[in-house]
Amino acid sequence: MRTDTIAAIATALSDSGIGIIRVSGEEAIPIVHKIYRNKKNQAVLSDYHSHTIHYGFIIEKNGDLIDEVMVSVMKSPHSYTTEDTVEINCHGGALMMKKILMTVIEAGARLAEPGEFTKRAFLNGRMDLSRAEAVMDMIHAKNQFALKSSIKQLRGSVSDKIKELRKKILYEIAFIESALDDPEHISLDGYEERLSGQVSYLLKELEKLLESADNGKMMKEGIRTVIVGKPNVGKSSLLNLLVGQDRAIVTNVAGTTRDTLEETVNLGDITLHVIDTAGIRSTEDVVEKIGVEKAKTISEDADLILYVMDTSIPIDDNDKDIMRMIKDKKTIILLNKSDLDEVVDQSSVADLLSEITKKSISLYVSSEMNYEEEKQQDENIHMVKFSAKENNGLDSLVGLIRKMFFHGRISYDNEVCITSSRHKEALLETLDSMNQVRASLENGMPEDFYSIDLMNAYASLGRIIGEEVGDDLVNEIFSKFCMGK
Ligand code: GDP
Repeated sequence: MRTDTIAAIATALSDSGIGIIRVSGEEAIPIVHKIYRNKKNQAVLSDYHSHTIHYGFIIEKNGDLIDEVMVSVMKSPHSYTTEDTVEINCHGGALMMKKILMTVIEAGARLAEPGEFTKRAFLNGRMDLSRAEAVMDMIHAKNQFALKSSIKQLRGSVSDKIKELRKKILYEIAFIESALDDPEHISLDGYEERLSGQVSYLLKELEKLLESADNGKMMKEGIRTVIVGKPNVGKSSLLNLLVGQDRAIVTNVAGTTRDTLEETVNLGDITLHVIDTAGIRSTEDVVEKIGVEKAKTISEDADLILYVMDTSIPIDDNDKDIMRMIKDKKTIILLNKSDLDEVVDQSSVADLLSEITKKSISLYVSSEMNYEEEKQQDENIHMVKFSAKENNGLDSLVGLIRKMFFHGRISYDNEVCITSSRHKEALLETLDSMNQVRASLENGMPEDFYSIDLMNAYASLGRIIGEEVGDDLVNEIFSKFCMGK
């Protein structure tokens, strides 16, 4: 059905060593044949063996030479899209690539939509949807974790797991259906007990996957981090330190950072998506007030709050306001300017916080500290001695984040990790359906009740790998892809 031939520039549209124009579809070989010449001017592209590459030239209609190229031929079904595919490796200038693309289009191809090559690979059954999505994740990977997890997903880690779970569910559906159809030969006596065992297993597996989704998303996209604190305490200095370059304007005039700045910061294997907000303090200044309100709103859906405190000046009511704001959030209090004489010590901060939050707060000393010890004190709020000026305390900060978010360990080797919110949603729906099955079992409902929910669970899981998905969703997913992929 998808016989038209598509073409796109597959490499970045900028000046570079080489560029690739990709052509895929039934007419890919004849189309490129029209515009390609080899040295002897007698090449027949269709005669070339699959997976071979050839030196030659791309020629304009009037016979003028456009570029010296290498053309590779991949014949159906052994190509990325499963269709006949030709890739033209040309010189990498943007103008050159555009010119060759135009020539290919004039010869009969159509400009591909973003992600259309991968969409074809999916629609032609070469890869399931979770693998196709992994291709894009790999391209957009911002850190080692994102890269490794997308490679694993591309190799089938997610689809294999989903298929395994679906197979188990399908077995039960089939068993119930056949028993209901043929009660004389297949007995459902004692079946509830077996199904109950299976349901427990499936629920456990689903919960494990969902647990990985929370970490996975934070690992892939970064922990949404908000820096708060009164003006002049060192918030911008901290951001600059994290980013490693002077992006935020650092000044010693109170209230300069009025709007918010956002940065993605890689700290070893941890990525922070940092939002720097205006200094939070009571103010009559309208412009600043907008910034302050914004900070409060942003803090509400942050994963982590970095509360910067200047320990060289006394605590005041503004600090109390901030403490009220952060009391239920995962927070690290950076006791900044520790290089200066200390006016506020950690125990007075801890006492005030305990008064407000009704919890005890610990000072994080070193990365040696056991996570369980940490946890006993308070899971959410910790303090670190810091000096943005002297770059002191950054290691402790990173160690602490690792402990608070990933229980001190970040693993991407063994487990299947869910990194897509689309997958997470489907898993949550599956979990719902499986909980329904459990409830029906507990309430002694008739068997056909189980099979309805089992079927729903089966369908929800199917969406992850692209079964039972509509055209709209497929189009939406692939529209986010790059051109030429
Ligand atoms: P913000 O208003 O909270 O963003 O604060 P800034 O980052 O602009 O810092 C305000 C002032 O404090 C600047 O003059 C910084 O150089 C200074 N400052 C920031 N961190 C430290 C620190 O750890 N020690 C000392 N002594 N000064 C600091």
